Amino acid sequence: MTETQPAIRLTALTKEFGAVTAVDHVDLEIAAGEFFSMLGPSGSGKTTVLRLIAGFEQPTGGTVELFGQDVTKRAPFDRDVNTVFQDYALFPHMSVLDNVAYGLRVRGLGRKERNERALRALASVRLEQMAGRKPSQLSGGQRQRVALARATVVQPKVLLLDEPLGALDLKLREQMQVELKEIQRELGITFIFVTHDQEEALTLSDRIAVFNDGRIEQLGTPAELYERPRSRFVADFVGTSNLFDVERSRTILGRDGHHSVRPEKMTVSRGGLDQPGVVDVPGTVVEAIYLGSGVRLVVDLDDGTRVSVLEQNDRDRMHDDERGDRVVVSWHEDDVVPLGIEALPGISG
Ligand code: ADP
Ligand code: MG
Repeated sequence: MTETQPAIRLTALTKEFGAVTAVDHVDLEIAAGEFFSMLGPSGSGKTTVLRLIAGFEQPTGGTVELFGQDVTKRAPFDRDVNTVFQDYALFPHMSVLDNVAYGLRVRGLGRKERNERALRALASVRLEQMAGRKPSQLSGGQRQRVALARATVVQPKVLLLDEPLGALDLKLREQMQVELKEIQRELGITFIFVTHDQEEALTLSDRIAVFNDGRIEQLGTPAELYERPRSRFVADFVGTSNLFDVERSRTILGRDGHHSVRPEKMTVSRGGLDQPGVVDVPGTVVEAIYLGSGVRLVVDLDDGTRVSVLEQNDRDRMHDDERGDRVVVSWHEDDVVPLGIEALPGISG
């Protein structure tokens, strides 16, 4: 139980539900104090991994270790983790204070100490003024914060959060993202955060595991995943990518294998850039979408490849492009990301 032990270590963790392999031999280490996200489409196994860590499910194979101790066979209450669910699961008949103090009551603490600690937890989410209210008298975002206070008041070493912001509207979600990050930093707890929202994962996380079909497709920092996706799946799921298959990589890029180029790495001009290391490809604008902070141009290159170009709305933009305009799309060779030679089913072009 030294501090150098990872908070979580999963070894060949596997969970089968009948014929479905929800989690498929996952190996993963998460450091103490990390804000770690599991990102992936619906059904990729994220919730099942979380439930295996919490002990709500028993694995078909493999082990779960917490701070170096094998807890695979232990009951949920015997693990130093706590979970925040998407629906918050607050007790409607109890006050906010009693909701937060509940876990301390179960652990047999006296009223004075539990109320003190519950108030402190409420202060950490800036809700101490709401202590006397019932959950029904709070907004969605406030209920979310109560659920967070209730989960942190027992001071778990690891907090598991399963799409905790999924029920909030965009503005509130962005606000709560910032607060979550602050709370995690203040408390120094390891957060394991599940989301299908790539922007949310990129904004919040120290590291991200991208899940696909019960396996980790890629593990890395937000910048690593974004700048160097290793597969078409990751390139396409994390951010937007222009994907070039083997055929188009050969004809347009002069390279073997699959490749991707981010829309913001491409630029559009009338005559091309004609610089060393820069690829210039002529095409025709098929769509120009004004985004306020920028413009998204959809361009059909002359061989028929459709690309998306994101241009900043700054002073360097020399002209307004419109549908039908003849242009040259340019990008630097350094911004071409190799994705290997594998072809994933369901993705073409
Ligand atoms: P995610 O959280 O990434 O959306 P889940 O972990 O919920 O994915 O599900 C992964 C796969 O396991 C899905 O195919 C899902 O249908 C299946 N699954 C999850 N829980 C059960 C269960 N209790 N019984 C049967 N199949 C399940
Ligand atoms: Mg889920």
